[in-house]
Amino acid sequence: MIKNVTVIGAGTMGNGIAHVFAQNGFKVTMVDVSEEALKKGLETISRNLDRMVKKGDISPEDSKSALQNITTNTNIKTGAAESDLVVEAATENLDLKLQIFKELDAACPPSSILATNTSSISITHIASVTKRPEKVIGMHFMNPVPIMKLVEIIRGYSTSDEVTEQIMALSTKLGKTPTEVNDYPGFVANRILMPMINEAIETLYNGVAGVLEIDTVMKLGMAHPMGPLQLADFIGLDVCLSILNVMYNGFKNPKYAPCPLLVNMVMAGKLGVKSGEGFYDYTESRKAEQVSSQFKRA
Ligand code: NAD
Repeated sequence: MIKNVTVIGAGTMGNGIAHVFAQNGFKVTMVDVSEEALKKGLETISRNLDRMVKKGDISPEDSKSALQNITTNTNIKTGAAESDLVVEAATENLDLKLQIFKELDAACPPSSILATNTSSISITHIASVTKRPEKVIGMHFMNPVPIMKLVEIIRGYSTSDEVTEQIMALSTKLGKTPTEVNDYPGFVANRILMPMINEAIETLYNGVAGVLEIDTVMKLGMAHPMGPLQLADFIGLDVCLSILNVMYNGFKNPKYAPCPLLVNMVMAGKLGVKSGEGFYDYTESRKAEQVSSQFKRA
């Protein structure tokens, strides 16, 4: 029975995951190496809960008890010691995740399930550094976590049926729709999304159309809520590049090769919303009016 949940990382995804578990009555310990990140994470959760109260989605009492369900910790060992489930949402870096899972395997009770929110790193590889590969699973939430319904549940090579069923049922309890997939580079969500984003960048790079035109075609023509270039800015161009590289290296197939324009933009520090500029400019009003200087128009 899962009651105590530890979330590793208090960033964009970590605080959203902590929010959703806490709102559904779980006791949550949010762990981050940075005190500042924990403070900001709690502030974000509080702000998002306030917004839900204002919209009438939850009562003020629900909001208060959700916040009371969350404690924070900067120490992974004590933060995960009594955990039934850990959801790791630290920075997307293979070596970091391998190190964290070694520590979690040593710190958690043998019965604990260890999940990762990785966007692209192999679950089987992460599981291989633990003594419980059957209890390691991907629990890939979408951003923003309190709003998005999907959880992509990724079975590693050794993940047991029992653990998969438990995590599927738990996701449903959180009000989400879990979808089971196997552990191959990019899983399903990013295997389909990232080639589309990469092709949109390639279309811009080839001078077929400008940023606004490409996004308008996809928004109005395909009824996508936002165009692929704007979506890339929201995800983070560095994140898009790293996911494409995982697929490129994993499949050894040139169709996943990142567009040179994407590579250049990441090297230039143009990472999208988080850096203030990507395909659009977010520095003044976040209204995303001005497009990348090099490729304003074809
Ligand atoms: P982020 O940069 O916003 O947050 C990462 C947090 O991890 C930071 O607060 C950092 O201090 C913390 N951290 C780093 N090392 C740590 C350690 N050893 N122990 C504890 N905390 C540590 O990143 P994010 O966007 O929240 O992404 C987190 C994970 O979620 C990544 O694996 C990413 O691929 C995945 N993901 C991201 C998105 C997205 O849209 N951003 C969507 C789905 C999945």
